[in-house]
Parts: sequence; structure tokens; C-alpha cells
Amino acid sequence: MKTFIPVNEPLLNGNEKKYLLEAIETGWISSEGPFVKQFEDSFSGYTGRKYAIAVCNGTVALETAVRALNLDKNSEVIMPSFTIISCALAVLRAGLKPVLVDSDPITWNMDVNRIESKITSKTKAIMAVHIYGMPVDMEPVIKLAEKYGLKIIEDAAEALGQTYKGKKCGNLADISIFSFYPNKHITTGEGGMILTNDPGLADKCRSLRNLCFQPKKRFLHEELGHNFRMTNLQAAVGLAQLERIEEFIEIKCSMGKKYTKLLQDISLIQLPAHKTGYAENIYWVYGILLKPEISSDVVMQKLKEKGIGTRPFFIGMHEQPVFHKMGLFSGEKYPIAENLAKKGFYIPSGLALTQEQILITSQKIREVLNEW
Ligand SMILES: *Cc1c(COP(=O)(O)O)cnc(C)c1O
Repeated sequence: MKTFIPVNEPLLNGNEKKYLLEAIETGWISSEGPFVKQFEDSFSGYTGRKYAIAVCNGTVALETAVRALNLDKNSEVIMPSFTIISCALAVLRAGLKPVLVDSDPITWNMDVNRIESKITSKTKAIMAVHIYGMPVDMEPVIKLAEKYGLKIIEDAAEALGQTYKGKKCGNLADISIFSFYPNKHITTGEGGMILTNDPGLADKCRSLRNLCFQPKKRFLHEELGHNFRMTNLQAAVGLAQLERIEEFIEIKCSMGKKYTKLLQDISLIQLPAHKTGYAENIYWVYGILLKPEISSDVVMQKLKEKGIGTRPFFIGMHEQPVFHKMGLFSGEKYPIAENLAKKGFYIPSGLALTQEQILITSQKIREVLNEW
């Protein structure tokens, strides 16, 4: 009887139960409860930001962040093709146009050398997305933003606790976001956070989150908002999770180093970059990129049969049928992103992963690849 090693399992054995019970016993379960503010405050403290606005997931955090920037309709926002669809959705739902950039073959992040050639008179912002625990090379992005007068949106959902040249991710742009989905560094079940140092942007996000109710005349609306509020129950879990962030990052880093040690001699795979000139990987997930001759579908299927869970890499935005139907990105080619989508997947990387499971997973990968 084999036991299956899932691709992710969170750790919820800190103060989560205690705070949740407190929320229930006091009757504070909605977004009005005190944990929401406490979670926001400790999150802004941790990331070094002035304002934190908790919302109900990372996707709407992005949507709210982009909308709050109030960019002219049909403006262009430059973003990586290789990312989650939430990024493109946020741009489109704000009435803006996503413009894509290919990835770097080593870090798998947006290739910052390809941004400038995509800038036009309509470009108003760059969305930087830190992929799988390695940050985007932000300095060139910031320089371009200064040169052309652009805003920067930072999607740091996969980089909580990471730094860029010593500065915390989530504190590298005009507005930044996080997600607290259960596979993220900390979880609230579903949840998200928006961060900024700009009081106007923070107010705008708070208003959009809360149906654009007005402080003075609550039921008089000047704009259309959303109910994107986070509940006190989610924030209770988030607060307990954030207390352990340093420990969680430690677990991820040690997992990454161990996988690398166990897998680095296998010539048929490319492992995640451990280090660049600006950061060391914190391995939000441990990704593997197969060499061209190997089919990732077959490898993932064989690993599944051996009891190892995997998840394929993102498929680039320029390869999405839904966007082609909308007349977007047709004929565009981003070979690095396409190769990542075709040949990449990640292996069990959750916080509850044991040393033994890392060993077993590595051994099974070796067995499967030895068949080639
Ligand atoms: C998880 C994730 C999101 C979306 O967050 P949800 O909470 O799942 O909506 C956005 N961007 C990136 C890079 C992510 O990894």
C-alpha cells in the first residue's frame, strides 16, 4: 500500500485554532472583526509598508490594485506572458490592455531586457510578477518606470518573505499584492492583501473593497465597487500564520536546497536557479524543467503512478484560447514561456512535507527519468 505525496499541504498547527475559537466565541466573524485590522497591521509591519488592505483572495487584490491606479482606458500594461491568469484579468477588467513579455530561461521571470521595446505612448504601467520564489530583477524595471513615467504593480503572491537586494518583496512598487491561497507561504484558506505607501491609493482600495460605501453618507455611491472583504475568521488564521513566517521560509529554503542536492546530477532536467546577483531562491515551489526530448505529461503521469503529486507550470497568456477569442495576442510567440509551459512542472513543495518525502520524491524522479 503506497501513500500518496501531495503537491501541497499547509501547516496549521500554530495559533490558528486559538484565534479562530476566539473569533467564534466573541461572535466577531465578519470583516468588522478585530483580527482583520491586526492582520493588516502585522502584515504592513512585516513588509515595511505604510498601508495594508486585506481582501478575499489574491486575484481580486490584483484587480483592485490595478483599478485603484486609475489609468486612462485602453492604456497598456506590460506584464509577463508566463504567469497566472489573474494578472491579465486584473488588467482587462480595469479596461486596459495587457502587453506581454517573454521569460528569462534561467529565473523563469519576465525578461526585463525585453520590456523597453514594448513601451509605446500608451504604456502606463508594468506588472512585475515574482515567479516560484525568485524575484524579478526589479532595478531595471524601476529605472524604466522612472524614465517613461510608468506605475509599477508588484505581484508578490509567490514571494512572501523574499527580498530583492535586501529589500522585502511586496515593498518594491507603487502597489503590491499577496495571495493567501493554501499553497502560498501563509494561508487564510482564501485571502489576499494589497500594500502601498500612498494614502490615496490605500483609501481607493479600501473603498473598492467595500462597495464604495462612503464614510459620511454610507448608502450614497459615487462609483461602483465590490464586496472583496476578508472575514475575521480568515484574518484569525492569517495572523497566526504570519507569526511563523520566518520558520516557514526556513522550511522552504531547506526543502529547495535538499531537492537540489538530490537531483542536481540528473542531466535530463534543469533545476530552479538557486542564486542571482540580487536574490537567493526561497523555493515557493520546487520547479523542474525537462530537456526537449522528454514529455512532461508522461513524466507527470508516471510520477503519479508512483505516488508523487505534481502540478504543471503556467501556460503563457499568449497561448490562452479565451484571449485569442477576444482578439488578443494572436500570432504572438514567446519561445521561453512556451518551453516552460510544455516542459515544466513542480513537485511536492508544501510546508508539511517531511524529509523522508523529499527523499522518496527525488528517488522516484530518478527512477522515472532513468527509463529515458
Ligand atoms: C496565487 C497567485 C495569484 C492569485 O491568488 P488567489 O488568491 O488564488 O486568487 C496571483 N498571482 C500569483 C503570482 C499567484 O501565484
